[in-house]
Amino acid sequence: QASDTMELRRLIAAARRAVVFTGAGISTESGIPDFRSPGGIWTQMQPIMFQDFCASAEMRREAWRRRFASDPVMRAAEPNRGHRAVARLVREGKVSAVITQNIDGLHQASGIPDRQVIELHGNTTYATCLDCGERYELEPLRAAFEREGDVHDCRACGGLIKTATISFGQSMPEAAMIRAQQEVLAADLCIVLGSSLVVYPAAGFPELAKRNGARLVIVNREGTGLDDIADLVIHRGIGDVLGAAVGTN
Ligand code: NAD
Ligand code: ZN
Repeated sequence: QASDTMELRRLIAAARRAVVFTGAGISTESGIPDFRSPGGIWTQMQPIMFQDFCASAEMRREAWRRRFASDPVMRAAEPNRGHRAVARLVREGKVSAVITQNIDGLHQASGIPDRQVIELHGNTTYATCLDCGERYELEPLRAAFEREGDVHDCRACGGLIKTATISFGQSMPEAAMIRAQQEVLAADLCIVLGSSLVVYPAAGFPELAKRNGARLVIVNREGTGLDDIADLVIHRGIGDVLGAAVGTN
């Protein structure tokens, strides 16, 4: 155990420019359940597809019901030791960007500037209009939902309002995809934290880093889709492993 932490520290020290790729697993220590672990969200309910959200008022109500039901967990969540270790690597200039599949905003909350967090699946802490992009805060939407049993349409254009997340079936955010690719191609080390690496195209980034000649490190409790090609795989908790390697509490 101590030896793989040493090896991780050595790889970080040897890197000139690293990129971090995170999944739901980095936020479980903040109390947010992941998708695929035992007890994860997908073991309890089916995801709502983007097409169904757009086509059905009933599905939209169900999506909002779920979102507001998870609000106490989301709002209570704070960055944990893993987030803090990543933030330190960014502050020190070792890590140029954090590419995340997470929608919880905890990397930004840990002090990483917005421009260095690349959100591949959007953000659930606010909502936007699907047509014109107008931003809506969740609190007033929730009040309306509780009062009227529904969320109103966009005040500016009449379009549908949805949390600023990317659902299954929805197209990926183009600018984020391009930035993620640029960062990956410029990196000589890619550190994956808490992702099963089964959701594409997101999981393609660590794979691309490796093919482009970067070292690949994976810290994840369970096996992942890319363990076979990684330079270092650590199947333990992220906070302790990365905290020890980086020297943060
Ligand atoms: P996933 O659920 O598929 O995989 C998470 C992995 O993290 C699992 O393999 C699990 O073994 C591991 N893990 C959990 N806690 C860990 C810990 N403390 N230390 C080490 N490993 C740990 O998650 P994914 O790969 O991110 O799946 C992708 C989808 O999940 C994305 O679409 C993302 O948007 C969504 N998601 C995000 C959040 C969030 O924002 N916090 C929460 C749930 C799901
Ligand atoms: Zn609009």
